Amino acid sequence: MRLVLLGAPGVGKGTQAKLINKKFNIPHISTGDILRNEVQEQSELGKKVKKILDSGELVPDKTILEIVNKRLVRPDCKNGFILDGFPRTIPQAKGLQSQLNNEGHLSLKVIEIFIPEDEIILRLTSRRICANCGKVYNIIFNPPPEDGCCTKCGGNIILRDDDREDTIKNRLSVYRKQTEPLISFYQKKDIFFQVNGQQSVEMVFSDIEKILLNM
Ligand code: AMP
Repeated sequence: MRLVLLGAPGVGKGTQAKLINKKFNIPHISTGDILRNEVQEQSELGKKVKKILDSGELVPDKTILEIVNKRLVRPDCKNGFILDGFPRTIPQAKGLQSQLNNEGHLSLKVIEIFIPEDEIILRLTSRRICANCGKVYNIIFNPPPEDGCCTKCGGNIILRDDDREDTIKNRLSVYRKQTEPLISFYQKKDIFFQVNGQQSVEMVFSDIEKILLNM
């Protein structure tokens, strides 16, 4: 099962990827998480991309393709994977396709989780995460404890730099310009499905599950 989760920032790709990982036991590969990790560890790559992440722009295709190509040849990807936040541009999608073709993996499916933009802005500006374990809270729908400490690990609950309102608006505009064209790219290949993201987490997962079990 080789799956790409597509959708604007904040539609719940990460949440759904974790559920799919649990149920189908295939690795969840989030390029955003990989890059944030590099920033946190202050690696060479992390230092190079920090400003880009904070602004909501995209990291160059070449850098991302190197990261993903390296990750996909690891043994845990043999039976499949969930890509979350990749590809985000047509060159990235073509790079992925050629890597899969080289390895004889042809059965890619693409699921877009769709939510209208004004709803996304509301969701993201109210999102908070644990700086230590990444657990996601929402000040409206799933408020963190008053002491600001994560219920899972006790870490600090914070607003991600790239969840600030001006950055969110830029991320959405970047999505519209650079990532939305992927929808027609994949629709033409007949491997594209869309689910309604304005439902409970469980309902969205159930829709995704139906698509995956019909693969
Ligand atoms: P995400 O958590 O997926 O929203 O990613 C956070 C940030 O990481 C994005 O706003 C980009 O700056 C960068 N990023 C993540 N994935 C990619 C990608 N596939 N291509 C380019 N930049 C990316």
